[in-house]
Amino acid sequence: GPEIPESHPRYESLLTRHRIEAGVDRGLTSRQGLIAQGRGEAFDYLLGEETIPSAAEAERAAAAHLLRAEHTVLSVNGNVAALAPGEIVELAETTGSDIEVNLFNRTDGRIERIAEHLRDHGAEAVKGLTADGRIPGLDHERAKVDADGIGAADVVLVPLEDGDRAEALGAMGKTELVIDLNPMSRSARAATVPIVDNLIRAVPNMTEHAADLADADRETLDSIVESFDADEALASAEQRIRDV
Ligand code: ATP
Ligand code: MG
Repeated sequence: GPEIPESHPRYESLLTRHRIEAGVDRGLTSRQGLIAQGRGEAFDYLLGEETIPSAAEAERAAAAHLLRAEHTVLSVNGNVAALAPGEIVELAETTGSDIEVNLFNRTDGRIERIAEHLRDHGAEAVKGLTADGRIPGLDHERAKVDADGIGAADVVLVPLEDGDRAEALGAMGKTELVIDLNPMSRSARAATVPIVDNLIRAVPNMTEHAADLADADRETLDSIVESFDADEALASAEQRIRDV
């Protein structure tokens, strides 16, 4: 890896950037993924590069959703695979979720490389290659999902999803947990639970909450889910950005 001293004031940000670059070099991440990364960095900078309290609440609500639902899927794209493969596998194990590769610019080669990368990080089964299901209202390539994966899920975690797909998944009646540093993006606005935090912090935080709630009864999970207010979470994140 790069020689970035840990004392560097923007250590985490530089490390993240390097992981995305390496992801592009390895054919996991698309070049558009670099642009998404740049946008994310700008918002993370404005949020203080930390998990704000409203995001921590969203992460707990998202964990409760994953624990109480029947069929939960974590969607992985090229940025997610480059930034947090092991962390996604851990969250899947802790919450009993499936993992499905789901790309904006879909190619079978890239899906296979990402699936292999996830298996190298301990994933047992990775969905996304069957592509025998469709999301209504999207063009052909963008609509593809596994029928027994995202197609059948009641709750989907979609980190860094684009706005069109986020809206179309919402229209299918799925509960969407969206990780997106931009509280004004359509994806965040379409979410049942918008998590305005960096993926690299959000995923391990969700795993921690899920482990903490592993023995919680249904009533406790329901009350965490019901007391979460998406509009309030988006407003707090926006306020934080304005207050910098
Ligand atoms: P739309 O309004 O359609 O949702 P968009 O701005 O979200 O448009 P993209 O550039 O495709 O369009 O989305 C990338 C999103 O992912 C941006 O909102 C960016 O802030 C976010 N993002 C990038 N890197 C990260 C990260 N590491 N953690 C969380 N969010 C990230
Ligand atoms: Mg978006």
